[in-house]
Amino acid sequence: MNLKLLKEIHDTIIEFETIYIFPHNRPDGDAMGTAYGLKHMLDATYPNKAVTVVGESSEFSKFIGIPDVIEDESVFENALGISVDTGNLTKLGNPQPRLCKKTIKMDHHIKAESFGDIEYIDTSRPAAALIVLDLYEAFKDEYVLPEKAAEALYFGILTDTGRFKYSSVTGDTFRSVSMLFDLGFNSEKIYRYLDSRTIEFTQYKGFVLQNIQFTENGVAYFKVLPEYLERFNVSLEEATSIVNELGVFKDIPIWALFAEYEGVIVRCRLRSKGPAINKLAAKYEGGGHAMASGASLGTWDRVGLLLKDADDLAKEYLGNN
Ligand code: AMP
Repeated sequence: MNLKLLKEIHDTIIEFETIYIFPHNRPDGDAMGTAYGLKHMLDATYPNKAVTVVGESSEFSKFIGIPDVIEDESVFENALGISVDTGNLTKLGNPQPRLCKKTIKMDHHIKAESFGDIEYIDTSRPAAALIVLDLYEAFKDEYVLPEKAAEALYFGILTDTGRFKYSSVTGDTFRSVSMLFDLGFNSEKIYRYLDSRTIEFTQYKGFVLQNIQFTENGVAYFKVLPEYLERFNVSLEEATSIVNELGVFKDIPIWALFAEYEGVIVRCRLRSKGPAINKLAAKYEGGGHAMASGASLGTWDRVGLLLKDADDLAKEYLGNN
């Protein structure tokens, strides 16, 4: 925790009456959990400030909140903008936080590019939501963290740590989470939500498990063809979210899900429980974490190239372990 920078963030928040929070595009649970955790904490602490989450919404995390869509960019002129859970301006989409008078970046990814008057990056934190908890802890006497904020932050932490399963989880993670439990919130409600699946999604999952393919040396992969979305009545977001449930195969350290986004661009969601895959993703205009990355292939005919590289990586890993 960088107390000096957290103090700067805290002082800057106090300075502004209007604050916009920007989760990244195609927001995941952590982006939304962080954004709404921060919003609810600021709303409860400073009832006279106007705090708004702005950007894309997602079916999966509607439960936490639905960001505002803002067309009139002049509203940002005198405001503070806080981007959460990305180090990448392009991932923030539009409107951009830099339209704001002053900007803060709160992120836990390896630094991709510099932006923001204050950049708070803590790669030791397995979820960006934990950075909001660091801010809360540093100024506990001043901040009010209501139940709604605790729920949102816990949702972010649970989803980005695979429910505390990933190796990025540390004692500090649990120490921070213990504060949420001390404050009291309904964690069961969140587990109930995360454990419920529509019939359509469950049947789609059955189809994926029946039809998943394997390379020779330990890579599982599945291509989400556009027709499947119609056949199973699932959204693209739901259909690709299944990547997080495909790490179940023994002796398969890497798995990949390919899908078309924006009607044309083929992207890959890549996961590992063995070798680091972020360099592999970077080779295909992507990046991310060692065990969870994404790549942009452009067209379906490049899928084989990535699979070949992934297969080499899996082979080397299995040979050494
Ligand atoms: P996802 O499969 O979308 O959950 O992405 C897993 C991780 O990879 C996240 O940390 C993303 O921020 C990162 N990631 C996904 N796609 C890209 C990309 N094209 N460039 C850089 N990072 C990415």
